[in-house]
Amino acid sequence: MEKERYLRELSKCVRCGSCKAFCPTYDEDKTEAMGARGRLVLLWGLSEGLLKPSRILNDRIFSCILCGACSGLCPPGVDIQEVIYHGRSLLRRSDAKRRSLRFLTKFYTKRPELSFRLLRMAQYILPHLLKKGTLHFLPELPEVSLKNEGRVFTISKKKGRVAVFTGCTVNFLYPHLGRTLINILQRLDYEVILPAGEVCCGVPLRTLGLEEKAIELAKKNLGIFSRLNVEAILSLCPTCTYALKVEYPKLIGKGLERAMDISSFLIDKLSTSHFSLLTSHFKSATYHDPCHLSYGLGVKREPREIIKNIGIDLIETEEQRCCGFGGIFSLSYREISEGLLEKRIKDLKKTGAETIITACPGCMMQLSRGAKDTPVLHLIETIEETCFSSNK
Ligand code: SF4
Ligand code: SF4
Repeated sequence: MEKERYLRELSKCVRCGSCKAFCPTYDEDKTEAMGARGRLVLLWGLSEGLLKPSRILNDRIFSCILCGACSGLCPPGVDIQEVIYHGRSLLRRSDAKRRSLRFLTKFYTKRPELSFRLLRMAQYILPHLLKKGTLHFLPELPEVSLKNEGRVFTISKKKGRVAVFTGCTVNFLYPHLGRTLINILQRLDYEVILPAGEVCCGVPLRTLGLEEKAIELAKKNLGIFSRLNVEAILSLCPTCTYALKVEYPKLIGKGLERAMDISSFLIDKLSTSHFSLLTSHFKSATYHDPCHLSYGLGVKREPREIIKNIGIDLIETEEQRCCGFGGIFSLSYREISEGLLEKRIKDLKKTGAETIITACPGCMMQLSRGAKDTPVLHLIETIEETCFSSNK
């Protein structure tokens, strides 16, 4: 965001406070500076020279989860997330607290394969230390990632072609989700392309104020994916989809319009002949809305419809709430993240559903830690288990 636009957005705020209604950090902390309005006032004070960067001010700005729950509620339409991103890029040099996180994130985005191998080694050699440390939420890492080079999954009689934007979480932590998606797409007669050269979507770098590094990655992904002759670019991670489709145009002037969440793509491809609960171990489920999918991309109906069409009894929670993951957020603000997780688990368990379904690998990781005895599944696993079992 250029400086003029940043100042224009800041001056649009009329301080009405509507943005606080569903703000998870405000809900957890109950202080003004932990909500969108408070954060915008702080950034405005900074731009006017009335405030200076400090540990507390930085903490308030970096504690936003960037969930997007506030954006649609703002009457003058302040682009709150972009303002926060820009504010962070201005503050990052004074933000000592996250210096090591910046270093590690930059290293990871440059050498993802090596980072994955090092992390696997650490998990093997020092499992207890890792469980107690910043990366306490990590599941057991798989032996191999989904891809480290480009691949095309061809089929004899194809109906169409799609590309998959793997995303880091699926590639390194949950490769089985990626394989499941590819399998389902092939069963639906789609040729699937996993192009070589995909890099991190850039969101972790942006959240730490490293805009120029995120721009480099965004340009790489845009170059690779915009050249492909495909019907859609699918991702199992709503944060990646949101970045490619909505954030890239603001960051580099052009995005990937064909980027799409899997439920939006599959909703009219899964015909009734695919639906039957032949192998499902559960009959009821509740659904957790990932923030970037629901607030960001406006996708709420499609995953619910798929679950219901499968024949699962969908029991809704009384309210929608962030699970408290937020990627880098949960590393920096463990206490708030745990508080939000506890509340969300309470909501979900109150439904009495046998299973929790969500559509984001990050939410899955977070909810699995809290749900304990209740299984947490990604929507794609539910589809695989119930629609494409070996009995079909
Ligand atoms: S993006 Fe989410 S956490 Fe940040 S101010 Fe808005 S509602 Fe609050
Ligand atoms: S809803 Fe918009 S105008 Fe109102 S306080 Fe929040 S950011 Fe400002």
